[in-house]
Amino acid sequence: MYTDLALFIDGKWLSGEGRTTEDVINPATGKALGTLPHASTADLQAALAAAEKGFAQWKATSAYDRSKIMRKAADLLRERFDHVSKVQTQEQGKVYAESRAEVLTSADIIDWYAEEGRRAYGRIVPGRQKGVRQLVTQEPVGVVAAFTPWNFPTLTPIRKIAGSLAAGCSIIVKASEETPGACVELVKCFADAGLPAGVLNLVFGVPANVSEYLLASPVVKKISFTGSIPVGKHLAGLAAKGMKRATMELGGHSPVVVFADADPEKAADTIAAFKYRNAGQVCISPTRFYVQEDSYSKFVARFTEYAKNIKLGDGMEKGTTMGPLANPRRLDAMESFVNDAKERGGKILTGGSRHGNQGFFFQPTVVTEVPDDCKIMTQEPFGPVAPIVPFKTFDEVVERANSLEFGLAAYAFTSSGATAAAIGDAIQSGMVGVNSVAISTPETPFGGVKESGYGSEGGIEGLQAYMNTKFISQA
Ligand code: NAD
Repeated sequence: MYTDLALFIDGKWLSGEGRTTEDVINPATGKALGTLPHASTADLQAALAAAEKGFAQWKATSAYDRSKIMRKAADLLRERFDHVSKVQTQEQGKVYAESRAEVLTSADIIDWYAEEGRRAYGRIVPGRQKGVRQLVTQEPVGVVAAFTPWNFPTLTPIRKIAGSLAAGCSIIVKASEETPGACVELVKCFADAGLPAGVLNLVFGVPANVSEYLLASPVVKKISFTGSIPVGKHLAGLAAKGMKRATMELGGHSPVVVFADADPEKAADTIAAFKYRNAGQVCISPTRFYVQEDSYSKFVARFTEYAKNIKLGDGMEKGTTMGPLANPRRLDAMESFVNDAKERGGKILTGGSRHGNQGFFFQPTVVTEVPDDCKIMTQEPFGPVAPIVPFKTFDEVVERANSLEFGLAAYAFTSSGATAAAIGDAIQSGMVGVNSVAISTPETPFGGVKESGYGSEGGIEGLQAYMNTKFISQA
């Protein structure tokens, strides 16, 4: 039911042959699912050489032909969605329905980039003298190195793979060693669709060693990373040494502002469902809830009721609405958030502890009466703990929402058009959902500001991220 894990370099699947390995664990059971090979230094060298060769060939392929191969890969992913979703749920923990939605969205992302790559237009700027033609053109950046995390094993790699391929770049992906199977399946779709050898390469290893090796190479011209802020800063430093382009999609701590003129119960239903998606292990997960005083008790009651009704279990089982956390590090982190909240006077309305005696389950948790400077209100939770606090005025809540170094996503609920416009403008965030949580689609830019990173994935900006602008003056 799982998949054969292997590296993919220069069009060949590689495993065994004395390579170091590590076990991949099912977070619902704590048991091993498979054995993952690590790339040796020779493998990384081979991946760089393959990507350099692949880039020359792919860049010379027309956008029209690139698009045909990409669309075929998308169709294969759709055909195989059930298997890929099951592989992902087993290794990551999220419920099957969420995996299925992620895999099908990933196919849509490939299609969207395949089309957008055909529209990478340039422009002609009028010259100052007669007969001078000034052309602005777009060229693929070159070989891309991408590093992706364990919370969206299909979606994060596909954003980077599809963006690179649509622009005409080749790519080396180091997907998460904790959730490698979904990316192996994804790469198979491209290989089976006829992508030339070397254009897409997949490696695994000790993350710090792989990134240091790849980023030290002059072959790599761009890095795209999704993960934590400390690792993002480290990798941005390595990229700067070689003056390499970088896209950094890092952590967040998304404020939710519920104004008293919004329906508090409707807002609670919408945002609670979004909060506990993937057990809260989502970079745009709503994580700090500010509710205007008049609506506070109604919102808290409805939100807590939602949390209490969540059915915790193995994501492969029918009826489960929240799976385990992806790894034991998150369990320790949740306990530390809850203990700190309790010590600071917080009240646990539901949840607050681990669940069961196998796997990495933590109860959906709601906490109130916490001060703004406690751990859960200031550090990214990345788990199923929701702190809810009251506020009085617009200016006060904007100041509190903007007080952290994060700036990835934010949400607000109001029935006033004026307040909707004002809050959308006032929040320091890369994405703002007003009466909506639909802030991540293939067609729209996804990315943060402040310490949440820079650059966008998705939208026309997502393609631009893999292209250099060139100016040609022709007399
Ligand atoms: P971590 O900071 O060690 O790792 C985060 C990710 O970066 C992992 O996928 C890891 O394999 C990778 N990584 C770590 N060091 C690396 C390096 N030197 N070079 C290349 N890749 C490297 O922590 P973690 O325990 O895996 O996750 C904890 C925190 O990471 C979470 O609290 C959350 O803030 C953040 N995170 C964010 C996202 C996101 O979507 N932005 C995804 C996963 C984790």
